Amino acid sequence: MSIVAKAQPTAAERVPDAERDTAQLLLEWWDRERRDLPWRAPPGGQSDPYHVWLSEIMLQQTTVKAVIPYYQGFLARWPTVAALAAASLDQVLAAWAGLGYYSRARNLYQCAQVVSQRLGGRFPSSEAELMALPGIGPYTAAAIAAIAFGVPTMPVDGNIERVMARLFAKAEPLATIKPSLRVLAASLLPPARAGDFAQGLMDLGASVCTPKRPSCLMCPLQRRCAGHAQGLAAMLPIKPAKADRPLRVGLAFVALREDGTVLLRRRPDAGLLGGMLEVPSTAWSDTLPPLDQALRAAPVHGQWWAVPGTVTHTFTHFRLELMVYRAVVPIDTPLTFWADPQHCRWLARRSFETAALPSVMRKVLAHGLREQ
Ligand code: SF4
Repeated sequence: MSIVAKAQPTAAERVPDAERDTAQLLLEWWDRERRDLPWRAPPGGQSDPYHVWLSEIMLQQTTVKAVIPYYQGFLARWPTVAALAAASLDQVLAAWAGLGYYSRARNLYQCAQVVSQRLGGRFPSSEAELMALPGIGPYTAAAIAAIAFGVPTMPVDGNIERVMARLFAKAEPLATIKPSLRVLAASLLPPARAGDFAQGLMDLGASVCTPKRPSCLMCPLQRRCAGHAQGLAAMLPIKPAKADRPLRVGLAFVALREDGTVLLRRRPDAGLLGGMLEVPSTAWSDTLPPLDQALRAAPVHGQWWAVPGTVTHTFTHFRLELMVYRAVVPIDTPLTFWADPQHCRWLARRSFETAALPSVMRKVLAHGLREQ
C-alpha cells in the first residue's frame, strides 16, 4: 500500500475561522487589485514613514486624485522630513495652495520641525507617540503605525466605517455605532500584514464598496457580507440628512497698481485660510453692509467700480458669495487703516501661481482682473 503525502494546506486553508477568512479574502484580492499610488511601497516592500505621513495628512478631507500632484510636488521639492523642516512656512503654504484646509499645512510644517529637530528625523512607531505630534490624530497615527511600521492596529476612517457597517449590517445611526465599528474592524485584523489589510480596506472602500452604488458582484467579501445578504448595502451606514450650508456675503477689493502689481494681504495664522494670502475684503457675514459703508473698508482710496457678476465658493460650513470691486491706483498710493498695512504686499501677477493663494482667492483674482 502506497502512502500519499498530504498536500501542504493553502494559505486560505490555514485560516480556519470566519473572521480570519475575511482578512485572507481581502488580502488575496488586494494582492491582485491594489491601486498603484505614489506613496505606497511596491508589493512586499516597506513603506517610508515620511511618505505615509505626508500622504495621510494630505488625504484628510481630500480625494486621492487631488492629492497625487501635490504629493509628488512636495516630495520632489522636499524629499525628506528634514528638507521639509528646513523650508519656510510661507513656502509650504504656497505649495499647499489649492488643497484646502490650510491648518493641515501649518500642522504639517510644525510636525516636520518636531520630527527633524527633536526626534532626529525619525518618526516614532507607536500610536501614542505619533499622536503627540502636531496634526496627527488617532486615525492618522494608526495608519502610519500599521502601514509604515507593521504595528497590528486598525485605522478606521469614514470609508472603513462604511465597509464595516455593511459587512456587519449595522443599521443604527452611524453616530451611535462608530465605536463598535472600530471594534469590529479590529476584530478582522490578520495576525500579520496589518498595513496591507488597512490599505486593502481603503482600496475596497474607494473602488468597490463605494458610498452610493457598491459593486457587490465584484466584491471579494460578498459571501461574508451581511449587508449585501440582507439587501441593505446601498443604504448603509445610516447618516443624518445634511443641513444646508448658510450663505455668507462680502465685498472684495482688487486693487491694481499702475506697475501691474495687485494688493494682497496675509491672513492671521489661526482660523479659516490661516496664514494664506487674500484679496482684502469686508467681513463675510449674513448680509452686505450698505455700499457706502462697505467701500469705506477699501484698502486704498481710489475709483472703485463693481466687476459684473459674483464669485461663489463652498467651504465646509458655509457658502460664500463675494461681489468684487476693482480700482487702478498710482504706484505711490498709501494703504488705508483698514488695509492692515503690515500684512499687505503688492504682488506681481506672474507670481500668483507660486503664491500661497487659496482657491477662493484665485477665483476672486481671476474675476476681478479679467478683461472687460
Ligand atoms: Fe460592500 Fe457589497 Fe462588498 Fe458588502 S458585498 S462589503 S456591501 S461591496
